[in-house]
Amino acid sequence: MKFSSASLLLAALAVAACDSKTATTGEAANSNATVEAAPPATDPAAAETSGTRATATDEANATPAPDPTTIPAGKAGDAAAILARPQVPILCYHQIRDWTARDSKGAKDYIVPIAAFKAQIKMLADSGYHTISPDQLYAYMTTGAKLPSKPIMLTFDDTDLDQFTVARPTLEQYGYKAMYFVMTVSLGRPHYMTKAMVKQLSDEGNIIGSHTWDHHNVKKYQGKDWETQIDKPTKTLEEITGKKINYFAYPFGLWNTQAFPELKKRGFVAAFSLAEKRDQQDPMFTIRRIIASGYWSPKTLRNNIVQSF
Ligand SMILES: [Zn+2]
Repeated sequence: MKFSSASLLLAALAVAACDSKTATTGEAANSNATVEAAPPATDPAAAETSGTRATATDEANATPAPDPTTIPAGKAGDAAAILARPQVPILCYHQIRDWTARDSKGAKDYIVPIAAFKAQIKMLADSGYHTISPDQLYAYMTTGAKLPSKPIMLTFDDTDLDQFTVARPTLEQYGYKAMYFVMTVSLGRPHYMTKAMVKQLSDEGNIIGSHTWDHHNVKKYQGKDWETQIDKPTKTLEEITGKKINYFAYPFGLWNTQAFPELKKRGFVAAFSLAEKRDQQDPMFTIRRIIASGYWSPKTLRNNIVQSF
């Protein structure tokens, strides 16, 4: 059933429904993403992220990032300050495997062939990108903390097995770390990661985030849904990793403002959406990502990174 993954199809449908400009062809998938106003060139943070101050000591200076839960709320910048900082590019991947005849045109945005994935990651390394952790991103966005030159974040949604068998060794080759947003209903099922794999990813320095129990749309939660989709999966992931789960990714990238207080009171410090515009009052709960399409050459990916963030 690998090729008719319910989550994949649901994701494709939802993206098509919520933004008709995306999910038709790979080239179009992110090209219409809302690009927010560029920050003023005088912003000192701009120089940091553009790589113009890149030095060999950047990485040493930039890590480790503080635990986000230890940053006092009063010290975190307000929404305007956060929105004014240049966005760090964040890529979102789903399945990493070769296409088959059964894959629809729309699904191929979410299925990156193995060679294409390796070429995309190699391009990032050759271009001097450094992967950062969500804690580094959080510290940068809320306090302006220093980042390595050419920072980027890699995220993997939906718990697909090939994220462990293909993406993990590829990233390892370049010393890259990533964020994995796990949908707990899938753990241990055929073609999905096991709990032991998720633990290993966490132990190896990657960060595990929540992607709900079974991928239901956050905008539709009522009553017990919060317990089923958020509370229980968080507990499961904390038991697996032995670490607090601080980050959330919205299924289908769909969110509403009513979700923010619900996520905050459950201990999340930030949440990730897709390419739409950020919420102007709560940018930390609408951090933008672009789906790195299976259709994209390394050059197309590089262009989209530059244009979308
Ligand atoms: Zn998903």
